Amino acid sequence: MSINNINGLQSLLSVDGNINAIIIGLITIGLITIITVSAYSFENIINNSKKKSVKIGLQIAEGVILAISMILVQHIFKALNSGDTRSWFYATTQLTLLLYSLYTMQNYVIEFMNIAMPIYVFGHHLINGNNNYLLLFIILTILLALTVSYISRNTDQLLNSEWKYIILQVIYGAIWWVIIWSFHRFTLYYTISMLVGFVIYMSIIRYIAKWIRDSFNNYHDLSEKVNYDELTGIRNRANFDEVSREVFKVYSKDLDVPLTMVMFDIDHFKIFNDDYGHAAGDVVLRHVATLFEKELFKMTTRGQIFRFGGEEFVIIFRGTTPEDALEVIKKIRNDLINDPVEYEGKELNIRISLGASALQPSDKNVDDLFNRVDKYLYESKNQGRNRITVEDETIAFN
Ligand code: GH3
Ligand code: MG
Ligand code: MG
Repeated sequence: MSINNINGLQSLLSVDGNINAIIIGLITIGLITIITVSAYSFENIINNSKKKSVKIGLQIAEGVILAISMILVQHIFKALNSGDTRSWFYATTQLTLLLYSLYTMQNYVIEFMNIAMPIYVFGHHLINGNNNYLLLFIILTILLALTVSYISRNTDQLLNSEWKYIILQVIYGAIWWVIIWSFHRFTLYYTISMLVGFVIYMSIIRYIAKWIRDSFNNYHDLSEKVNYDELTGIRNRANFDEVSREVFKVYSKDLDVPLTMVMFDIDHFKIFNDDYGHAAGDVVLRHVATLFEKELFKMTTRGQIFRFGGEEFVIIFRGTTPEDALEVIKKIRNDLINDPVEYEGKELNIRISLGASALQPSDKNVDDLFNRVDKYLYESKNQGRNRITVEDETIAFN
């Protein structure tokens, strides 16, 4: 192969070249958007699911998205260049997709694809009978593998430091260009131009990707605001309505797996507001919410707490019987009593009343369960507060 066979930088200066570059640029941005959005959506699913199979499945799906993107770029280049993909711009676009996915998707499949790609490309050229530099190729592939695994293990650090990011990008690009040189000979001037081209192209893509990511995060923040209570930071009523309905759908199918709902209300909460002011009431609400949330998480009960409204909270315990939920509640309640919250130097003693019940075969919808729990809570209040009613049996706390 000689340099003349490769569409060089010059081709970009022609009118046709410019139009092609714009088309490819737009397509690359589209693919980068798909990669970014799917990486973020998958990450959310992975975080919410503890199943290993889900995680592996989504990692493979990310690999498939990258593979499809690269095949698409190859076909578009062939269409635009009458079957020829030997241009620096083509290689730059493919490398950008590979490196960008490595930063965004962070999984073993993507890492493997990054390392396997030179072997694939080189093998392709080996079949075509042009290889004089096998040893050089092997060394470079090992160097690339080291660079790729370094990048995938330090993505956060690299993304936060502009110069480290650029250095790693230059190393990654340089290794790749020498790999390409081992089957397409070109001059040093050409190699450097291509490397500079890659750095500039990747920087533009990175800038656009940051913009996409920020927009996506803004959207995510907005949905956080919709689902979370502003004062306490825990899930809100709207989220409870949604989650409880979904949970009912799943658990009503198989009642061998228990589901328990607990509702509680702070006793004489109005007194905190009346005696110390509204701000003290807010401190109490935040304290109760965070204590429960933290302890439920620490005890890995799979209990999820929601602020239902005012000083009322609901907890959904999946796969937990009311007896087991009672043990958890007793423990958290003890922490609440033993570690009173301070407000302006005064200890505020918080007491709560609760109701608890398990999902039953006769429950037609989640409201049936909720109304029973609510009724039990008011039984606890009526019998003198500071107590819990579990399936119609009221227990006083000491
Ligand atoms: P009970 O033991 O019967 O539950 O009595 P209580 O005083 O706790 O209940 P009540 O329903 O009489 O009063 C609840 C009060 O909670 C009334 C309302 O002003 C106050 N409240 C509701 N939301 C907030 C809030 O976000 N912050 C503060 N500081 N107060 C709130
Ligand atoms: Mg109350
Ligand atoms: Mg109340």
